[in-house]
Amino acid sequence: MGGRVVVVGSANVDVVVEVPHHPRDGETVLGGDVRRTPGGKGANQAVAATRGGGAETTFVGAVGRDESAELLLSSLERAAVRTDLVDRVDAATGTALITVAPDGGNAIAVAPGANSHVRVDAARSARIAEADVVLLQLEIPVDVVRSAAAAKRPDGRVVLNAAPSRRLPAGVWSLVDILVVNETEAADLAGGLPGPTTTGTGLDDTTVDPAALVEALLDRVPAVVVTLGAEGSLVAERGKRPLAIPALPVRAVDTTGAGDTYCGVLAAALSRGASLDDAARLATAAGALAVTCPGAQDAIPTAADVAALAA
Ligand code: ADP
Repeated sequence: MGGRVVVVGSANVDVVVEVPHHPRDGETVLGGDVRRTPGGKGANQAVAATRGGGAETTFVGAVGRDESAELLLSSLERAAVRTDLVDRVDAATGTALITVAPDGGNAIAVAPGANSHVRVDAARSARIAEADVVLLQLEIPVDVVRSAAAAKRPDGRVVLNAAPSRRLPAGVWSLVDILVVNETEAADLAGGLPGPTTTGTGLDDTTVDPAALVEALLDRVPAVVVTLGAEGSLVAERGKRPLAIPALPVRAVDTTGAGDTYCGVLAAALSRGASLDDAARLATAAGALAVTCPGAQDAIPTAADVAALAA
């Protein structure tokens, strides 16, 4: 039996080019054919919660009145996500420009467009109040994130995927039950706290102690998950020993959407009462399957495949 999840967040068309390497400052790189595929952290996570996690999921978002909107709505509907609370607004549908390197790694620039118009009104608050889990990210205005979190019912849970890295106003942290971040976002949030050390030659040389980051973040929220790409993830709750969950060995072809798949499946498992550790094990299997296929939403596995790999 699936629980109920509401995702409030972004929907973007991903415009993707495979490149021999990501362009450096001032550089032009010739790549392969362009692909336009459904994405956006919010929409990806809604598809993952439904298809990958088996939850009854509503997506609260906003799209324009253009062709991109049709692509996004049809992908959500194909995955059986409820779209009755998606607004059509007078702005271009959100667009992400993505380069994918041969190792599957990506670099992304987003034009938010319609995502700046996402709102939490009475109807949306009511749907959130019915949910077991509210799943949020930071590709929409932060005051909307705060309103969505505040609308949860007392025994509902708020999962915040604090991506991309942004400063959050006071008052948001106290509404968050579980924070999910990748290593970069964790380091950004814990900035100034013990953990990050650099060799001084640039970002790629930054080495971070994930356990120190988790410790720092547990000061703000009761539970933290740090995803570590091919290294797996670290799951920590106040008063418990952190659990390291290794990634499952697969051949990565495109890591776009791995984190979103992880978050959606995690939220779905939590919505039907799984422990955080068990939810993270399922999410790990889902993340591994997601990196074996190109695309974001198109690469999200079914709940049956996730369960089979996690077993
Ligand atoms: P993000 O996409 O937000 O940066 P990560 O890259 O940390 O997120 O990926 C999320 C999760 O997906 C990881 O914790 C891991 O479980 C899984 N994953 C990501 N990359 C791989 C990989 N190369 N092989 C296996 N699993 C992976």
